[in-house]
Order: sequence, then C-alpha cells, then structure tokens
Amino acid sequence: MDTVIPGMAGAPRKVPPGEFAAEAVDIVVDFHGHRAVDSVSLGVAKGEVCAVIGPSGSGKSTLLRTFNHLQAPSSGQILLDGAPAIRSGRPSSGELMALRRKVGMCFQSFNLFPHLTAAENIVLAQVKALGRNKSAARERALQLLDRVGLSAKADFKPSQCSGGQQQRIAIARALALDPEIMLFDEPTSALDPELGAEVLAVMRELAGTGMTMIVVTHEMHFAEDVADHLVFMADGRVVEQGQPSLVLRDPQHERTRRFLRAVNER
Ligand code: ADP
Ligand code: MG
Repeated sequence: MDTVIPGMAGAPRKVPPGEFAAEAVDIVVDFHGHRAVDSVSLGVAKGEVCAVIGPSGSGKSTLLRTFNHLQAPSSGQILLDGAPAIRSGRPSSGELMALRRKVGMCFQSFNLFPHLTAAENIVLAQVKALGRNKSAARERALQLLDRVGLSAKADFKPSQCSGGQQQRIAIARALALDPEIMLFDEPTSALDPELGAEVLAVMRELAGTGMTMIVVTHEMHFAEDVADHLVFMADGRVVEQGQPSLVLRDPQHERTRRFLRAVNER
C-alpha cells in the first residue's frame, strides 16, 4: 500500500513505502515541559528539495536537528531510506558519526574555524570524519571551492571573506563528506540580499545535481522555484504542506494566510 501524504493545498503526494530518502515519523520534542515539536511527520524523496517555512519559534530548527540526531526526539523516529537512523536508545559515537556523514548540515551561523583558511577548514572535516589523507583532502577541498565559486579564497581565513563567501565555504565543507542528504537551517538569514543570492545560487545548483535537501528558509522565491514540496509549520505542528506554488498562492488555512501576509508586508 502506498503512503499518501495529504497535500492539503493540491493533489495528495503518493510516495511508495521506503522511497523517502528521509522521513520524520510522529516526531515529538519536549523541552522542560514545553512541546517544541508536536507529532510532526514529513518526508523527502531522493533528489527532492523540501522547504520548511513558518514563524520564529515554531520548531523548525528543532525538527531539522532531529534528522541528524543533533537533537534527540522525545518520541517518534527518523527513517533514512526506510530504516531507523538510530537503531535504539543511546547511539554510539560511531553511529552518530556515520549518521552525520550521511546527513550533512549548514547553519545560519557558518561555524568555520577562524584560525584556519577556507581550504584548511574543509580539509580538517575530511581528515576527522573520513580519515582521508591530507593531500587527497586538499584536492577535494579545492574542487569544491571551485564548485562554489571560491577558488581564489582557498588560502584566506574566514575573516577575510564576506558572509556569503563564508557560508559557501561551509557548504563546501559539508559536501566534502559526500553526504546523501543536506539540511539547511536558514542559511541566508544572516546575510544581506546580494550575499544571500550567491548562497542561494549554490543551493540551486546543488538541487539541480539531484541532492536531497531539507531547507528551512524565509526565502519564498527560492521555496517556490526550487522546492518540490513545501511544509508550513506553526506552534510545533505541520499546518499544511503540498506543492510550493499552491501552498504559497492558495493557502487553505488561516494561520498560513496570516504568516504569508506578514512575510509579504515586510
Ligand atoms: P524555529 O527554528 O522555528 O524558530 P526552534 O526550533 O528554534 O524554532 O524553537 C522552538 C521552540 O523550542 C521555541 O519555543 C524555543 O524557545 C524552544 N527551544 C529550542 N531549543 C531549545 C532548547 N535547547 N532548550 C529549551 N527550549 C528550546
Ligand atoms: Mg530556527
């Protein structure tokens, strides 16, 4: 039997069982009695981009972080290719490392080491996580810096790069571990529009190569143009989800309409 994900705005989305590259099943996250994520289920198929939008405090970051177990769910499960991401209870450090190689992440704050150059940041990640030797790691770092348009910055420190460049270095660092899925948590929200556009261009290119991505974003144009599926969250819950242009242009819920009005009036 197929799993039918109700796309409340638009046609239901039919994905056969096990065909989600990543799936949250009934995820709950409680912080000291406060329910930050309240029974959220959503899935992203291989090669798809899933955008998650919603007001501040609605649980988007917390949900995203459960996909690579930076946040342990209070209940519910993350499935990768249909199998539990964490087998049971407390994961071993080896299990966590394997998971975080498979599911890469970029944050709003780029988290680069300030004392290392762009290339060295990307080398270090590979040496630590993959045990790759330094010269192979350097070669891969230069390839990836070229891919994100930053060949010229390889030997510069983060402080000598713009915010948009730093975020592209962070993306290159995540890609150096050859992830199967990439999570992005508001990757452009610390950037002015022009620098944000450079980062979005890299993400668009990445989506075009078939990378499976879950992107928390306030960039509605990006969500509409690049995402295959859009999820609107409020108060820890999924309020509606479906084809991006339908959710954005013809939202079915008052809460979604109110949020989109506020975004448009900004
Ligand atoms: P969003 O990313 O949508 O802005 P978050 O996932 O960051 O939302 O936060 C959801 C709710 O959980 C908020 O009320 C926030 O204050 C709370 N929260 C997030 N992280 C923690 C934490 N580590 N400890 C306690 N409360 C948290
Ligand atoms: Mg957040």
